[in-house]
Amino acid sequence: MKITDIKPYPIWAGGRNVMLVKVETDEGIHGWGESGVSSRELAVEGAMRHYREFLIGMDPMNAGALWQLMYRSQYFEGGRILTGAISAIDIALHDIRGKALGVPVYQLLGGKHRDFVPGFATTSQGDKDASLAEAKAFVDDGWQCVRLNWEWLTNSEVRVFEPRESIAETAEWLIEAREAIDDRIVLGIDYHHRLSVAEAASFCQKMPSGTLDFLEEPIRDETPAAYRALRTMTDVPFAIGEEISSKWHFVPYIEEGLTQYARLDICNIGGFTEAMKIAGWCEAHYIDLMPHNPLGPVCTAASVHLGAAVPNFSWLESRVTADGADLFDDEMFPVRPHTEHGSYPVPTTPGLGVEVNEDALKGYEFRFWEAPHLRRKDGSLTNW
Ligand SMILES: [Mg+2]
Repeated sequence: MKITDIKPYPIWAGGRNVMLVKVETDEGIHGWGESGVSSRELAVEGAMRHYREFLIGMDPMNAGALWQLMYRSQYFEGGRILTGAISAIDIALHDIRGKALGVPVYQLLGGKHRDFVPGFATTSQGDKDASLAEAKAFVDDGWQCVRLNWEWLTNSEVRVFEPRESIAETAEWLIEAREAIDDRIVLGIDYHHRLSVAEAASFCQKMPSGTLDFLEEPIRDETPAAYRALRTMTDVPFAIGEEISSKWHFVPYIEEGLTQYARLDICNIGGFTEAMKIAGWCEAHYIDLMPHNPLGPVCTAASVHLGAAVPNFSWLESRVTADGADLFDDEMFPVRPHTEHGSYPVPTTPGLGVEVNEDALKGYEFRFWEAPHLRRKDGSLTNW
């Protein structure tokens, strides 16, 4: 079998841009992949065009060797844009391999460990009480893990972020939430790397031990030493890794215990080929995967297969609302994963088990979109 084309589709779907890729072959089998580099999708499309130049004519069954070729073929190796493109192509190659062999992707990865993949839901209401009510609705529906968000973290109209105000109010609210929700339910929060080491430490110290089951991305991850410092200042487990774009970047976070959950993103890390290596590394350190999954159905399907195929797994991020509204339409994605009471059934059809209507994609255009450029009250830039 030979690759005959690689077609990038940066399109607006489900309330944001989704960067899809279709890989076609001379045997009529095609695969779909997705990249996770949000808001810079056209740069990823450019990288895919470079890879297309030498991948056409190659055997898609050799996904591991093609990963090496894509990662190592440029003098300037790595970086999120390149690994975002590699991820999408690698996922599509696995879709092709599964279809060619007549097996679901998890069977290419060693078979499945579980019949369903547990997910976590995230509250989306700005108001504290409404957000807590939403969390309870998720729990009533069967979700065992809920990520709590509210005004300071969810409202994309907010343009000013004051860390000290945010951490004081959020810590107070989380204490209330912990008291209101069954202690068997796992509660976490994502600070979206908006804090400094000192602010993150203060935030954790404002809550009794056991209030939070995980704190996601309190600070940026460029300097592992900063997390090393923060790790000594709180006992709250960390969930880090959605921005990490290779096994090499993950090394200190896994080997030094800087994170207790790996928030690996299969659409950024380098697809299945790289994700499975990191999963094994995490297993050796008793760290469970908690994959990042904020985008489209191809990312979700790939993450479900990954979750089925590794022993060390906690919960998959799930884009759901308490009222059950679906973000994606059936015309564009006729077959896609759906949650059932807090988890995803594992697809049993060959490949990823997701179908994309290429003709429908052509009607959707890419939209330039910027994440909010947050500022402090004094006008200085702060992280979104
Ligand atoms: Mg996050």
